[in-house]
Amino acid sequence: MKICAATGNPGKLAELRRILEAGGHEVVSQKELGLDLEPDETGTTFAENAKIKAEALCRASGLPTVADDSGLCVEALDGAPGVYSARFCGHHGDDEANNDKLLAEMAGVPAGKRGAKFVSAVCLMLPDGRNLTCLGECPGNVAFERLAGDYGFGYDPLFIPDECGTPEGKRPNAEGRSYAQLTPGEKDAISHRGRALEQLEAQLPGFLAAE
Ligand code: IMP
Repeated sequence: MKICAATGNPGKLAELRRILEAGGHEVVSQKELGLDLEPDETGTTFAENAKIKAEALCRASGLPTVADDSGLCVEALDGAPGVYSARFCGHHGDDEANNDKLLAEMAGVPAGKRGAKFVSAVCLMLPDGRNLTCLGECPGNVAFERLAGDYGFGYDPLFIPDECGTPEGKRPNAEGRSYAQLTPGEKDAISHRGRALEQLEAQLPGFLAAE
């Protein structure tokens, strides 16, 4: 299926593209379509915001459209930054400032109390209005400092997932590597986005066959 990827975030786009293309789809970004749209994320849940973005870009592109709304929910911060992850520092999309703020808020929170999960809602919107939303989660912990690697974006250097992917499946992340230190394949196999898109792919045939 030819799919419009509804995001202006290059890190997110790279992941959506490689996971959807591995599933046999053709992906075209909103930028490649010349669509400079950034819908207001007025929802209070990941699912609501994913649908808002998918709907707006589907209408503009005329193509089946996938949007992801995602974020980091930290136990010690009562689930923050959650749906506000992109603007945690007060303005939109400043990864370094967001990471600085997260480290500051977590100062003094000891090991064992730094649990967190990444959540992704992906919404596929069809031009006829039918839509399918799937959720994915990845549990882990917030690091004490940036664990930078060759990959990733956003909060990746501060998030240590409980598992990492392998060609055979997954295994415990015994080395405590951050999302940024996993290869794309290791991240996609266990990531919130990888899991949400896996669900979407699994439900797609039934969804398309239904009236
Ligand atoms: P939104 O879905 O556009 O509202 O933005 C989600 C925000 O959550 C991004 O700007 C990132 O800061 C963060 N985020 C979502 N997914 C990831 C990820 O896979 N790694 C790191 N940060 C992420």
